[in-house]
Amino acid sequence: MSYSHNPAPVRRNIHDHDDPYQLAGALAEGTVCPDCGAVFHGSRWTLNEELRRKLEKERAREHARQAHRINHSTLCSGCRKAQDHCPGGIVTLRGEYLVRHHDEIMALVRNEEKKAVGINPTERIIQVLIENGDVVIETTNEKLAQRLGRAVHRACSGEVQYKWSEDNKLARVEWRRDQ
Ligand SMILES: [Zn+2]
Repeated sequence: MSYSHNPAPVRRNIHDHDDPYQLAGALAEGTVCPDCGAVFHGSRWTLNEELRRKLEKERAREHARQAHRINHSTLCSGCRKAQDHCPGGIVTLRGEYLVRHHDEIMALVRNEEKKAVGINPTERIIQVLIENGDVVIETTNEKLAQRLGRAVHRACSGEVQYKWSEDNKLARVEWRRDQ
């Protein structure tokens, strides 16, 4: 895969409907993701504990009457990307400064993820790897990767670069600070 370097830190022209993992039209209202409990409601995945419990009660009643015809359980796009191991963003953090401030930076990263999940539960971190001392964070989509890059850069300065694959499906964010 080749990457085109783009100095602009934000791309807002990427729409979710370009994402093959967003099968909005194919999902029934009230579909629940069995992995993370996200509910498909009003054409988007959302975290709503109360709604999920209500739907599960209804399903149980339908099931008891054997009226349960529609499949109301489908993995959300975030869980499918995690399961297929198909990240939309890869954030690499490196440098001396990272070694000294590792815990604070990771707390910042987790906090940004939490905020993103609150808005869209399919935007999340798939996994965090340590490769030769670098921290490599795989995210379900490119927006969260950009968000993490911006947050670390804002809080810790250093240098940040954003690169996209030619089809715009994968963003690579590289941050570094040495001193
Ligand atoms: Zn899910």
